[in-house]
Amino acid sequence: MYRDTYVGNLDAEAAGTTVTIAGWAARIRDQGGVAFVDLRDASGLVQVVIAPDEVPELVDVARSLKREYCLKIIGDVRARPPGTENLDLPTGAVEVAARTVEVLSTAQPLPFQLDDSIETDEQVRLQYRYLDLRRDRMSRNLKARSRAVAAIHNNLDAAGFMEVETPTLIKSTPEGARDVLVPSRHRQGHFYALPQSPQLFKQLLMVAGVDRYYQIARCYRDEDFRADRQIEFTQLDLEGSFWGQDEVLATIESVVSDAVAAVRGEGLSLPLSQMTYAEAIDRFGSDKPDLRFGMEIADLSDVFAASEFNAFASVVEGGGVVRAINIGESESSRSHLDGIIERAKELGAKGLVWMVVEQDGTIRSPVAKFLESGEMDAIRQALSGELGDVLLLVADEHRRASHVLGQLRLDHGRPDGHDDLSFLWVTDFPVFEVADDGGLAPAHHPFTAPRSVEELRDSPETAVAKAYDLVVNGVELGSGSVRIHDPAVQQEVFDILGIAPEEAHQRFGWFLEALRYGTPPHAGFAFGIDRLVSVLQNEPNIREVMPFPKTQTGFDPLTSSPSPVTEDQLAELGIELRPDAEESLEAHPAG
Ligand code: ASP
Repeated sequence: MYRDTYVGNLDAEAAGTTVTIAGWAARIRDQGGVAFVDLRDASGLVQVVIAPDEVPELVDVARSLKREYCLKIIGDVRARPPGTENLDLPTGAVEVAARTVEVLSTAQPLPFQLDDSIETDEQVRLQYRYLDLRRDRMSRNLKARSRAVAAIHNNLDAAGFMEVETPTLIKSTPEGARDVLVPSRHRQGHFYALPQSPQLFKQLLMVAGVDRYYQIARCYRDEDFRADRQIEFTQLDLEGSFWGQDEVLATIESVVSDAVAAVRGEGLSLPLSQMTYAEAIDRFGSDKPDLRFGMEIADLSDVFAASEFNAFASVVEGGGVVRAINIGESESSRSHLDGIIERAKELGAKGLVWMVVEQDGTIRSPVAKFLESGEMDAIRQALSGELGDVLLLVADEHRRASHVLGQLRLDHGRPDGHDDLSFLWVTDFPVFEVADDGGLAPAHHPFTAPRSVEELRDSPETAVAKAYDLVVNGVELGSGSVRIHDPAVQQEVFDILGIAPEEAHQRFGWFLEALRYGTPPHAGFAFGIDRLVSVLQNEPNIREVMPFPKTQTGFDPLTSSPSPVTEDQLAELGIELRPDAEESLEAHPAG
């Protein structure tokens, strides 16, 4: 027997008992021949005293111990001498006086200190992830994730959902990213794609009569490495038939609230607030507004339409807007404000005008000379400007001005509470957005139902979709929509997207065919498990809550993956490397 209790159970009440415990030597202090070992197991940490003057057989082992040795210890639990209790440690009232210490396995000198307070290079942490995961912070993250996932399973099981697996070697599903491809050996020159999501399979399950589906699904998107994304990640994926938006939202709210309760101890107050996409852009310049602070965008177009400040007046005359935020009392030195102007330009603004509210209610600004006192009053009022406040104004078309101010709002706004969770539904997204090439692309994915088919036909650019996102603290947690269940409408969407009938047939013919067999109306949603847990654990990125993540460039330093394969393996797949791939192999021979 390796143990009869976890160290985390050893509190004052356990004093007087003899226990067998097993774990790792997290810290070792030698005090005049007596070794104090913090023994860590999955439940926590306890102090073990190895005192050769009390137990002479321990003299050799006491000297031989090193950090992270794996030990089995039999000892007596006793109250710590008064004054030496450690209130920071749940087991800090007691210590274990060792009778025997057995080294189950030794450990090499560590590549880094497993101490939460010491910063270690992420590359090294990932290379030795099995050591990194021994740290308290990481083990708490893994536990939180497990509890959240268990709560999701329990909630959906109780609500009558069926868990169904869908394949991971599939024909490509369009979610807007690049596919991860897998070559076929049997059909050389043919490829599977890994699913960007189980989207089309879950819709097939609705056609199949599976009334309520869910799955904790691994998804793969080969995106350019930006911000906080991983090439593989996990979603809760869900779909229901004879359903509309309200039912999806209520289900997801209850699931998320249970997951939050499982991690944080308290669920959410439901229902969550909702805002349309148009309102979110208008008030916060973002389709995922962070509502932990105000700093709303105000419209000053009316004030400037009639003003002497021609640069702004002419923008309004040309159909544009003048919009502004009040970033509050802030540094107002020239160089700081010039920095904000530069930032606005980087964000796509043609320029930015700053204003500072002065003692007498007037405004200091490079454009102040063009403004009458009534106009200054109107500006101050619209932005609730008080002494020392810095106001930032942008004149442009509505979308761009809002976007730039939305970003500046995030640069300067500060959420109050560190732990706060601010959930929000954003609804009524557009069906399409304008792609880089000027054409239309799906704003969500091409299977999303429009609010009205007439609107879709008459003005696809502005048509509104039955699509909704869940946002938390300014981060998009997940998306979903009511789906198109009429094959003719689905075909129309492909037409608008410029997917010719033959191409639609080749890529999605199997799916369009399925829609022709009595498809029930259906709707669904998916949200990122990694993202939810990282927010709940206050972690700065999703890698911290993924057991074995890749670096931001998609590399796994632990296994050195991706890595080259043999000539024979390539030959079996009918693949020959192009010269640029050969060059890349030479540059990274080990993977
Ligand atoms: N498949 C979608 C996604 O991954 C979610 C959905 O529409 O259900 O974002």
